Formats: sequence, structure tokens, C-alpha cells
Amino acid sequence: MRELPFLDLRALNQRHAAAYAAALERVLTSGRVLLGEETEAFEREFARYCGVRHCVGVGNGLDALHLVLRAWEIGAGDEVIVPSNTFIATWLAVSHAGARPVPVEPDPRTHNLDPARVEAAIGPRTRAIVAVHLYGRPAPMDALADIARRHGLKLLEDAAQAHGARWHGTRCGALGDAAAFSFYPGKNLGALGDGGAVTTDDPVLAARVSLLRNYGSPVKYRHEVQGFNSRLDELQAAFLRERLRALDADNAWRTSVARIYLQALRDVPGLVLPPADDTQARSSWHLFVVRASDRDGLARALEARGVATLVHYPTPPHRQVAYAALGLAAGALPLAERLATEVLSLPIGPTMTDDDAAQVAAAVHDVLATTA
Ligand SMILES: *Cc1c(COP(=O)(O)O)cnc(C)c1O
Repeated sequence: MRELPFLDLRALNQRHAAAYAAALERVLTSGRVLLGEETEAFEREFARYCGVRHCVGVGNGLDALHLVLRAWEIGAGDEVIVPSNTFIATWLAVSHAGARPVPVEPDPRTHNLDPARVEAAIGPRTRAIVAVHLYGRPAPMDALADIARRHGLKLLEDAAQAHGARWHGTRCGALGDAAAFSFYPGKNLGALGDGGAVTTDDPVLAARVSLLRNYGSPVKYRHEVQGFNSRLDELQAAFLRERLRALDADNAWRTSVARIYLQALRDVPGLVLPPADDTQARSSWHLFVVRASDRDGLARALEARGVATLVHYPTPPHRQVAYAALGLAAGALPLAERLATEVLSLPIGPTMTDDDAAQVAAAVHDVLATTA
């Protein structure tokens, strides 16, 4: 039995080793390590990839979300709608801006925001909706954009898991008023360290985020706003340019792993599969998340069979100590809480072979057939 890692970053890096070495050489000889040609070129290339006019590289995905909210002057006294079931960064961005995150429960089939519940959560202080494309599947952006328009709200995509995913053919990153991306190494488009970006068609927003990421400084030692230090560095930008060229092929590879799972696991009792791609949504398949009532038992049994799994995420933000002050007790957001006990992420990645996927599926079959 072969050990299957959750994501083989070593193999992924090895595949690009020569190009990364060349990228390092370019940066070394340029003599510039911040806000230079590599960052500009990556911003151009990633904007074109997403189908938007502007891309601004920043330090990480959390900052990308935070700086957009700041640029929109969303802050104290404002409310921002966020999913109840997301990585905590979505909430932290709102809190760091000084606004209040207002959690909305998901559609349990897609794990994404439920538009009807979003509409019900809008109040006089609501300024924006953050739509997370969770696990890589695009959120229902038509309905959310319609709600945002009718209520005069900004619509921000948290596209940290959705590089290259499409909604009705349009890429994530081009579906809201702005989008935030993360290039954390494990993401579909990952750097060799932290990185992030904002994409938008709005030139005013792009200029504002450019200011905010660099001390509020349009030229050295002139400061027009109280900005931050959150720049994408030249080296990460150079690495990302290389990875971007492989993104569509990597996503196609992930999609084929997902298809194998969806086919091989379709009749396993007690297992809920993620929705397949359809005419609306084409996932980036950042994660392949199943649900099982005895999730922890399944994870342990898979580990014993050499299959590594992870949980995204074991505790929803409102049940974290960090958000104790919100006073949301156990049971306050029952869907997010139940999903947190049931979700399990199977291995998926661009270096997995069909045989690897078949081995994972066979292990899941083996475990659930013997416990059913
Ligand atoms: C990874 C992630 C982030 C944060 O990105 P960082 O680059 O780690 O700051 C935000 N939102 C979601 C949904 C993520 O998965």
C-alpha cells in the first residue's frame, strides 16, 4: 500500500524547479526585489487571465480582502455579510476594517451562500456581501449580484480557492465589484511563500488598493492615506508567472480526479458527494469535500489505509475563541456547525494520477462498505 499525501507540494515544486531557478536569476540580475517588473508583469498576466482590467498584487489573501473593504471605506458601524462556513480570514478582513461580520448560512448542497438567506440578513447598516467560492465552486453570483444591485451593496468575491473556476463561462475574479485571491502555497495558484492579489474592472478601486498596499504612498515619502505594508514581492511574482502558465492544465487535472471520485463513489451508502460541474458552475476543484456522519471514524480508517485527509474546517468562525465577543453560542448557526462535524477533504492535486484517485476511492469504499 502506497502512502498518499493530501497534496504533494514537493512533487509540484520539483516539476517547476528549473523555471523557478530561472525566475530567481531574473530577479537577482534585475536588482529589484519589490514593486518591479515581475510584479507588474504578473499583475498584467493575471488580470488578462481573469478577464478584468486591473490586478494589484498584495502580501496575502487576507490583506487582499481587507484592503478592498478599506478602499471602499467600509468600517466602524458598518455590517458586511459573510458565509457562516468559511475560513476565518473572510471574517477577519471585515473585523480588521472595523466593520461587523454578519454570518449567513449556506445552501448545504453547494456549501456556498444561499441568496434567500443573504437577502433576509440585509439591514440598514449592511454595506457589502463577501461571496466565498468555497472549495473552488463558484457561489451563485447572478442572484448575489442582483441582490447587491437592488440594495446598493458592494459585492466582493473571496476567490482564494477559485483561481480559474468559472460561473456561466466567466472566470472567478471577474464576477463581483472586486475579488480577492490568495497565493498561499496550497492554493490552486500557489507561490513559494505568501502572496495575494485584488482583481477588479474599477480603476479607482485599483488605484486605491495600490496606495493602501504601499504605505499610502504614490511616490516615495509622500503619504496620501494611512496605508499598510502589503506588497507581493518580485520573487513570488516571478514564481507565480511560471505557475500561472500551468494553471489551466493543473485545474483540468484536478477536474479529472474529481470526476473519478464522483463516478467511483456515487453509490457509497452514508456518503454525500459534492455537486458535479454543471452548465452554471465549473469548479477549480481546490478541494474535494465529502460528508459523512462518522467523519472522524472515516478519516481514521482512511489514514490506516495510507490515505491522508483534512477537514475544511473543523470549527466555524463564530465558535472560535477569537469571535467569543460576538456572543454566538453553540446552535446559533446550526448548518455551519453541522457541516463542520461532517466534512472531509479527500486528496486532490495536479500531481495525483488516476491510479492514486482510484486507490483513494477504493479505500473509501472499503471503509464504508464494511461499516454500513
Ligand atoms: C486561503 C484563504 C484565505 C486567506 O488567504 P491567505 O493568503 O492565507 O491570507 C481567505 N479566504 C479563503 C476562503 C481562503 O481559503
